[in-house]
Amino acid sequence: MERRPQKRVRNSNTRTRNTDRRDEHVSRVSSSAPVSQKVRQIYLDADTPKIPVGDTQTQRIDQEAPYTIPLEDTQRLDWDSYGTDDLFPEETSYHEERMARKAQSVRSGARKSSSRQKTQQRSTQSRQSQARQSQTRQPQSRTPRAQQTHSPRSRQTQSRQTQTRQAQARSSRPSLQQTQRLDLSAYRKASSKRRKRKKLRLPFIIIGAAVLAALIIILLTAAGGVKEAANVKITSTETTQTITWDNKVKNASYEVLQKSPEGSFTVVKTVSADSTPSATIVELNSATEYEYKVRTVKGEGKKQRRSNGVSIRAYTLPAAVTELSFWTEIQDSLTFSWADTQNVAGYELRFGTSDNLSDADTIQLALSDLVVDEGTGNYTYQIENLEERTPYYFSLRSYIDNDTFSSWTETRTARVSRPVDMRGIDVNAPMVALTFDDGPEGSDITTRILDTFAQYGGHATFFQLGDRASSYSDRIKRMVDEGHEVGNHTYDHSHMGDSVTREDIVKANDAIEEAGGVRPVSFRSPGGSTTDLIRETCAEENMALYYWSLDTRDWYTRDADSVISVIKNNIEDGDIILMHNIYGSSAEAVEKIVPWLIDQGYQLVTVSQLLKAKTGDLPVPGTQYVTATQTMN
Ligand code: ZN
Repeated sequence: MERRPQKRVRNSNTRTRNTDRRDEHVSRVSSSAPVSQKVRQIYLDADTPKIPVGDTQTQRIDQEAPYTIPLEDTQRLDWDSYGTDDLFPEETSYHEERMARKAQSVRSGARKSSSRQKTQQRSTQSRQSQARQSQTRQPQSRTPRAQQTHSPRSRQTQSRQTQTRQAQARSSRPSLQQTQRLDLSAYRKASSKRRKRKKLRLPFIIIGAAVLAALIIILLTAAGGVKEAANVKITSTETTQTITWDNKVKNASYEVLQKSPEGSFTVVKTVSADSTPSATIVELNSATEYEYKVRTVKGEGKKQRRSNGVSIRAYTLPAAVTELSFWTEIQDSLTFSWADTQNVAGYELRFGTSDNLSDADTIQLALSDLVVDEGTGNYTYQIENLEERTPYYFSLRSYIDNDTFSSWTETRTARVSRPVDMRGIDVNAPMVALTFDDGPEGSDITTRILDTFAQYGGHATFFQLGDRASSYSDRIKRMVDEGHEVGNHTYDHSHMGDSVTREDIVKANDAIEEAGGVRPVSFRSPGGSTTDLIRETCAEENMALYYWSLDTRDWYTRDADSVISVIKNNIEDGDIILMHNIYGSSAEAVEKIVPWLIDQGYQLVTVSQLLKAKTGDLPVPGTQYVTATQTMN
């Protein structure tokens, strides 16, 4: 019997199949006639249209119908209710139940705890217990479904009651709209509960995530398990990098790992616990970025644990700039040239007029500011509007970024010289440079040579002595005036090779400049041999050095025909030919060989013109040329 209400709910849709139930239901109502009839009457009276129908209905439905009624059922109820007899028994039953419950409650007093228990305790079914049971099953039992009993009943009673109820039903029958409202309100309650549940869930998710993150951190730390090295730093040179750190972990040793180009780290240094926390890596490439990890190691053997490692990376410094040279290419300018230092972002040029560069400007040269010389592949950069014959000082370095520079080159000095006059020279036609040393002299030798060139055209280079230039400055002046080049052959030819002093060179330059108005840009060492001092001095004096590719041996044979023969038998395009303007035989040879050479198609040019024509560049100060393209120290 206790299961009844449940069963009723389950079978609520099958009412039409089980017509008996209707009878049972009504019989229960009638059997309670004395009290319930009255109650019903009051109820029905109170429920008449004095109160607006819609309100009453809503109120009552809200009160009685729990939110669990699905829309489907409610609607079915609505349509089913039309014209059916048993719409109201449940109201009757409800009020009967309330009364019964009241009575029961009076009777049972404090024994109100569990109605289900009480029901089980009773062997006989009282109306009260049944009613109480219905009450406990409120959600289902209050649905406007027919409630049933097994008691028999009379049809007459039923029909009378039915008539009354039908009338009542018409006035208070729930419309579809109302039913839906019921359902919506139920739905709202339900969804509000769901929202509350969602709100509750969010903080739990956050807390959960935080706990999980903390656990992961703890696990990761525990995995390394060892404190990392602190204050890891790196310093670089061109080929080494030194990594240092603070040793704050007791009895910890360290491993320094280097990243390979393939990306894997391998241990390159181990540093024991009692040694200075630093490691120097050597034999590195310059201007190259290297990456390292410093890993702390604790314990020994199987208990050995390592930290994950602290990463650090840096570039090695670029190598110092090489092949630095300079010359005057256009009037009042200096052109600088140097070899490409690989992997750098640019260069910095310090340039000023004080020899310690204290007044120097620093000119930053990005690679895009520079011109690459097609012949040598070297970078070039030009500074214009300089003062001729004023010494300038400069130094150059490369950089990778704002913190990574090569060392500066030694401070060099440069003078703006007169640019080489290339007018009338076909750089694609053969040419040779006739050169004359040791003059000038007071006889007619130099004059005859100059006359020959004046007659046939072309130019020569005269490597002259400073003391003679002072004595025979008219010869020097004529050389300059007629477009010949006057070079330096030391002051008085008293020193050769290793014994040549700086003064020998500089003093000659001063004398020649004073005699001819032009400071030499070319030098020939007495006897041809050079030293570092000679080359450095020449570089400072903005002079290139010239050996020779063809020696006429005029100084030895002192024979014009011999000289002519040597030249005719050996001459090649680009030759630098050695002669002397202190022998008559040499002047005689010139008078014959110049027209012959010109006839052979050779252009007769100065050494600077030869270099410029053959290389596209001016000769590089400090460099000794054998031919235009061959050099030697
Ligand atoms: Zn000489």
